[in-house]
Amino acid sequence: MRTVNFPLKPDSSFDSVYSMQDNLTPSTASINIAHVGVQYRTQEALRDVNCVVKPGRLTGIFGPNGAGKSTLMKAMLGLVPVSSGTVLYQEKALMQQLEKIAYVPQRNQIDWTYPATVWDVVMMGRVKKTGWLRSFSAVSRQESKNALKRVGMWEYCDRPIGQLSGGQQQRVFLARALAQQADIFCFDEPLVGIDQKTQSIIFEVFHELATAGKIVLVVNHDLGESITHFDDLILLNRELIATGSRQQVLTQQNLYRAYSGQVMYFDDAA
Ligand code: ADP
Ligand code: MG
Repeated sequence: MRTVNFPLKPDSSFDSVYSMQDNLTPSTASINIAHVGVQYRTQEALRDVNCVVKPGRLTGIFGPNGAGKSTLMKAMLGLVPVSSGTVLYQEKALMQQLEKIAYVPQRNQIDWTYPATVWDVVMMGRVKKTGWLRSFSAVSRQESKNALKRVGMWEYCDRPIGQLSGGQQQRVFLARALAQQADIFCFDEPLVGIDQKTQSIIFEVFHELATAGKIVLVVNHDLGESITHFDDLILLNRELIATGSRQQVLTQQNLYRAYSGQVMYFDDAA
């Protein structure tokens, strides 16, 4: 069932609340992306993308601006229609299993003026578990509190979300994703506009989730040292340039093809 989600801008293409699954067993299945193409009205954003996203690995989607990174993530979640191909998880369309997914969109798709507190934002991650017309259970409240503590934001629970720094806001959305207790975590550019402390917490949590056997998929465009945190990479530029382990993907040739020769190769990045 689709429901209106806060706090995304009304024009955002994302309008669903994704929330938790009853069983907390780690995922052992991969996501299989086969022949995915996306055509926007005036242009082809992605063509024939084939790759696998494995559980227990931190997977990064990399590529230059406009490469189709966000489009691939949205296509996986059914937020933009595909013109070709399939995205399967446990042999079924992933977009029909949204209750297993926690998704944090790019920050420019979130309406930061929406009048909600930190606590409201995290508890909304629990809506599906609780149901719209029932009051939140003690379990939901405890899960949300634990998640906020995990990211160091519990003391801010009464603060309006719009009054926090970019890093604090990103940590609140990370807490919301954690409170959902999903199998699959999708984050679009979570490292943009954040401080060093937030970056450390974010990667700690990503690694914990991967170690617990979750699927953790993160869009990032920055080829700096943060790339060393990723186990697997999907390198895009409107089509798949390369995919596999970080070491396999980070070759000069692949980076040259993806970034059209605009970046240098980081010897120590692999
Ligand atoms: P990235 O996340 O890698 O920066 P996007 O997936 O956002 O790239 O966009 C890929 C291309 O598709 C860009 O050229 C962008 O302008 C275009 N695009 C993205 N969203 C839409 C849309 N809703 N309608 C039309 N074109 C779009
Ligand atoms: Mg993007």
